[in-house]
Amino acid sequence: MIEFSLTEEQRTIQESARKFVEKDVKPIALQRDRSVNHQDCFQWDIVEKLSQIGFRTLTLDEKYGGPGVDTLTAAIVCEELAVGDLGVSVIVAMQAKLVQMIQWSLSEELCRKFLIPFRDDDRFLLATCVTEPNTGSDILAGGPNVRIATTAVLDGNEWVINGVKQWSSGASVAKLYRILVRTEQGNAYVLVPSDTPGFSVDHVHDKMGERLCPNAGMALNNVRVPKENLVHVLSGPSTPLTVRSRIMRSSNAYTAASNVGVARAAYEAALEYAKLRAQGGKRIIEQQLIGSMLADMYIEIEAARLLYRKAAWAADHDDQYDPKLHAMAKVFASEVAQRATVRALEIHGGYGAMKDLPMEKYVRDAVSFSHSDGTNQGQRLKTMTLLAAEA
Ligand SMILES: Cc1cc2nc3c(=O)[nH]c(=O)nc-3n(C[C@H](O)[C@H](O)[C@H](O)COP(=O)(O)OP(=O)(O)OC[C@H]3O[C@@H](n4cnc5c(N)ncnc54)[C@H](O)[C@@H]3O)c2cc1C
Repeated sequence: MIEFSLTEEQRTIQESARKFVEKDVKPIALQRDRSVNHQDCFQWDIVEKLSQIGFRTLTLDEKYGGPGVDTLTAAIVCEELAVGDLGVSVIVAMQAKLVQMIQWSLSEELCRKFLIPFRDDDRFLLATCVTEPNTGSDILAGGPNVRIATTAVLDGNEWVINGVKQWSSGASVAKLYRILVRTEQGNAYVLVPSDTPGFSVDHVHDKMGERLCPNAGMALNNVRVPKENLVHVLSGPSTPLTVRSRIMRSSNAYTAASNVGVARAAYEAALEYAKLRAQGGKRIIEQQLIGSMLADMYIEIEAARLLYRKAAWAADHDDQYDPKLHAMAKVFASEVAQRATVRALEIHGGYGAMKDLPMEKYVRDAVSFSHSDGTNQGQRLKTMTLLAAEA
């Protein structure tokens, strides 16, 4: 039996995300996006407010003192937050997926070690550093055995890590990082606290969009962390495949949901404008070429939402696992966001191109985010390879 309606708990949390966006995100998003210095776009007040209403710790298990929501509920929150600002939504999505990864991979003792300090500090953020200057899409296309340059060598009871990472969302402001490293056993993730000697911010990137969430490059010079900080090895006979696939599934579902939020913000603004603006003797919504653009936006947003919700739901139901699903959700939603934001800008005519309105911000947000979480070409290649293997 298929059930499409949200539970009462999901409707309540969706409503509180909507209220948060109206009160705390929309009033500041445009001004912060336009900060002359890109490092001023991110401010802690939003993170603190997100934390106080429980969104920073959304997926933290109840046994560690969090709300412990499932992937679908967290994705619904990501959509709502992205209606206010994409960067704010990405900050929450990063926490949701990395908390899940830690809970799915580590013992209860280690979860407590890492997650209780996370729970107790409104400014505690998590980030993941996978991409390197010379290794980007190959990590997605090459699978768990791709040769990355960042190394972790065991020295007694410590890993010694060296390498450089780039583009990481939330890096420079996070307190705990999941770093992809190459070990003798294969590629693996290691947890590195921000205050570890030798670990530093290389530089903060100046991004065209999604500016309220910073992206930074990180340098690791003889960084030493305890042996137990290895979250899991990605390749080799002991690979916990279900953990790896679950992480990718929830990550892509959150990315797709955030994209739907951006598309919705653009669509809602365009719909309102098209009902008010009159040209050619009638409201422009009654001009068929405009009405048809709005109908296309509405159709595509609804389809993208169904796909991300299915992907998010499947992330928590192993028997529903289809490795193509999360790639499809991410590709489709990000392209819907790009089409919807450009259409919304067109519907606003000349006003759309002016910086008084957020239309050009929505376009920048949607385009800049299309490469995040694996490029769409990379996700298509993955889908294509899986389809070929099924034939
Ligand atoms: C907003 C944003 C947020 C990000 N957040 C993070 C993060 O939190 N952590 C992190 O580690 N990384 C992050 N990234 C990095 C992102 O995941 C990488 O940008 C992405 O994997 C692409 O790598 P690349 O930039 O090196 O491009 P490349 O891999 O060099 O690709 C360049 C172009 O070639 C195409 N291409 C590459 N290989 C193939 C192939 N085999 N066949 C066909 N086409 C191909 C790509 O699709 C792309 O169009 C982020 C990026 C952005 C823009």
